Amino acid sequence: MKTHSRRRRGQGLLLRLGIVPLMLLFLAGCSGGTAAEPQPVEPDDRPVVLTTFTVLADIAQNVAGEHLRVESVTRLGAEIHGYEPTPDDLRRASRADLILDNGLNLEAWFAQFVADNPAPHVTVSDGVEVIDIADEEGSGKPNPHAWMSPLNVQKYAGRIAEAFSELDPEHASDYRANAAQYQSKLQAVHDELAASLTQIPESHRTLVTCEGAFSYLARDVGLTEKYLWAVNAESQATPRKVAAAIDAVREQQVPAVFCESTVSDAAMQRVVESTDAVYGGTLYVDSLSAADGPVPTYLDLITHDTRTIARALKGELP
Ligand SMILES: [Zn+2]
Repeated sequence: MKTHSRRRRGQGLLLRLGIVPLMLLFLAGCSGGTAAEPQPVEPDDRPVVLTTFTVLADIAQNVAGEHLRVESVTRLGAEIHGYEPTPDDLRRASRADLILDNGLNLEAWFAQFVADNPAPHVTVSDGVEVIDIADEEGSGKPNPHAWMSPLNVQKYAGRIAEAFSELDPEHASDYRANAAQYQSKLQAVHDELAASLTQIPESHRTLVTCEGAFSYLARDVGLTEKYLWAVNAESQATPRKVAAAIDAVREQQVPAVFCESTVSDAAMQRVVESTDAVYGGTLYVDSLSAADGPVPTYLDLITHDTRTIARALKGELP
């Protein structure tokens, strides 16, 4: 295992050197801003862990500490459900020592992505209690957004620590200690969120969003969830669904509605125009922001979202 992974790492180094000019070209053509934060290209000797999206990369980085190079296939701000891997993504995967995916059908593209890849891959959501998508399109399909519960991410961290310990047994005790430390931070965030959301009046505990990404968080803290579409891969706000959202907001006098950062909020603005609800803010689910944005880490993301929700549903908008 050890020899095998060293040899593959050696090949990875050659590949990395080979793609440096391509990366430079890419950087030269990059317009900057929040999209497409480039991955570091400096080769080093650490094993490479490739994750499917930025949120998972950050969670894995917390467990890895300095021992592993953690990267994300999709870039900051990218839509992940219907992503189409590029030849460069496949090259990066070919030099990875371990690949982590969320699973639960989040990455519709993943099976094909790893089909010819000899690196082990681990699905981090294995073991969480799955919530199925409740509407007609989703019937029976799992809701993939399990990371939107900090309690689920505690499980992700434990599973990632085990995967890293197998990849790099020398640092197993560090991975387990890092995971334990991260798990206690996740617990603290959950406790704060649960406390802040219980201050919302009972009658206002309905969360209306574009994507049905909040089922797990809603379960954790006792909110009722409504949405325009189940997952972004099928992001179609049909007139019927917008009308249903308008009815629900009027009936339950929902004070605020929300939309996610990776999709257009146009349909939700129609709900705002037709009801007394205000637009409560942008929520982050499927991607982190750039380092100087509002949610550069998962802990920032989940804290930002719940504070935004709590503030708006309590009617405390500026
Ligand atoms: Zn999503």
